[in-house]
Amino acid sequence: MDLAWRDAAKQAPRPPRLAGRTTASYKHFMARNIARKKRAALAEAVFERLAAANPEPAGELEYVNPFTLLVAVVLSAQATDAGVNKATKALFAVADTPEKMVALGEQGLAERIKTIGLYRAKARHVIALSRTILEKYGGQTPKDRAALEALPGVGRKTANVVLNTAFGEPTVAVDTHVFRVANRLGIAPGNTPREVEDELMQVIPMRFLPHAHHWLILHGRYVCKARTPLCAACILSDICLYEPKTPAG
Ligand code: SF4
Repeated sequence: MDLAWRDAAKQAPRPPRLAGRTTASYKHFMARNIARKKRAALAEAVFERLAAANPEPAGELEYVNPFTLLVAVVLSAQATDAGVNKATKALFAVADTPEKMVALGEQGLAERIKTIGLYRAKARHVIALSRTILEKYGGQTPKDRAALEALPGVGRKTANVVLNTAFGEPTVAVDTHVFRVANRLGIAPGNTPREVEDELMQVIPMRFLPHAHHWLILHGRYVCKARTPLCAACILSDICLYEPKTPAG
């Protein structure tokens, strides 16, 4: 058998992104890439079904502009969307801009959100971030990740929600539902929200990215529930990698 081609292949220079890898790390790199390609194919099938079932998914937090969305997301930490909406309905009627929020003062705001857990700390953060938006950004909520993450009480997840929902950026915010669903389905396994986010950004086809975050949250909230996922009623059960599936009740 003529194996000259194999020797020639060994001599051929490696492409730049593979150069410098040992054989072991090259094999690892290739295995990881093949695994990611399989996950990307799975993700495409998952989002095709979620999109067909709910073409226009929407978040459940109520807001009237990017600033009130930012405030609502800050208030929603360790609280339910329904609980936050109950308090913000009256709040946003009187304070839907950073100026009006600052005018309420920390005490005034705390009074209006005291049905929400951790309301004192959240009131402090919301007043501080409103002040920063006024002083540094002329009252406009910044459309920039670094600027958002520098605001008091705002982390990567909150910035991702605002960038995606208010400004239409292709970001995926990984909350507890997204983290769980992405791991169970097998499309983006990871030990931390950041690992899952990075993997999701690699495997979700671009056309699904604008809504991906909402599809995964809604699926986690109503079907792939934390304690007992409703696998028997799940439209993804034949492609989901989670085992064992919950049997029909
Ligand atoms: S089959 Fe079960 S574990 Fe998999 S996504 Fe559906 S509900 Fe979740």
